[in-house]
Amino acid sequence: MNEKKFDVIIIGGGPAGISAALWCDELGLDALLLESQGELGGQLLWTFNEIQNHLGAEAKDGRQMRDHFLNQIEKRRFTKILNSEVTGIDLAAKTVTLAGVGRFEGESIVIATGVGRRRLNIEGENKFQGKGILRSGKPDKDQVKDKVALIVGGGDAAFENTQILSETASKVILVHRRKEFSAREEFIASAKNNPKVEILTDSVLNRISGRKRVEEVEIKDIKTNAVNSLAVQGILVRIGVKPNSELFRNDLETDARGYLKVDQNCATNVTNIFAVGDVANPASPTVSSAVGMGATAIKSIRLRLKSS
Ligand code: NDP
Repeated sequence: MNEKKFDVIIIGGGPAGISAALWCDELGLDALLLESQGELGGQLLWTFNEIQNHLGAEAKDGRQMRDHFLNQIEKRRFTKILNSEVTGIDLAAKTVTLAGVGRFEGESIVIATGVGRRRLNIEGENKFQGKGILRSGKPDKDQVKDKVALIVGGGDAAFENTQILSETASKVILVHRRKEFSAREEFIASAKNNPKVEILTDSVLNRISGRKRVEEVEIKDIKTNAVNSLAVQGILVRIGVKPNSELFRNDLETDARGYLKVDQNCATNVTNIFAVGDVANPASPTVSSAVGMGATAIKSIRLRLKSS
């Protein structure tokens, strides 16, 4: 066991976790912030659109917003460990085990692990990451210039990226597993009116193949079971996100989709364990909500300590 005991251990260094760390310093709590990646930022690091709806700061993309946050917390005192792989958590003893580092004890634990993009888990999906499988439409649209791009999904993200990729691609094929879409009507209408866009419904992407880069895909019509091969050079998968809550699901209450259940103080069903940001399924999964939840949890922790 590592010697030091913290008032608060924060797991996850996105906007919610960063805000929690700032508020710990603000309220005189000794905090340990754990981030699994090599830098703080969470989802901001894969947000490529402008951020104009976070009051107080605008940014050309998520990374720039992250940099605003880092500037602001520069003088705040808390302990930070990057590249920290949490391998175990004992919610009763309030200990967190980090691979190759040790075990830390906290008076309270704040889970801010966010969400991750859902994957299709099909053949070729791992092999062709960065070799035709795109990160996002905005930064990668030049990769499909005068080429055929394929997008999987039927929500806002799939349709928004269809529009973006059609600016450069010769053709964009949108593949969705149902007939109905969950995207906004105006996004759907704009795709349907775009001569470069072809929409395949009741269809799933089965396989991605190629030599060094994506060259061909296999699409299955789930109504007829017919399988078609298509030549495509770029693929973007936008099938939503899932909560990073696997480590906690045995001990904490979740909803049917695995999001951690919290009350208005961001407290979970286990005493002194809190969850903030997207992993706690806020009504508006935004930077602003994440930042607010970070503050709420730490205020609540401070009040509990005062009254105990
Ligand atoms: P959504 O959860 O809104 O949509 C996911 C889509 O992927 C659905 O069409 C779903 O189909 C499909 N899907 C889910 N799992 C699979 C699977 N295993 N195989 C194939 N298809 C699958 O996610 P988005 O990423 O589109 O959006 C996330 C959030 O971000 C939303 O709140 C959205 O409104 C917001 N957003 C807003 C934008 C804007 O306003 N400009 C732009 C982008 C996103 P089914 O319906 O059958 O479940």
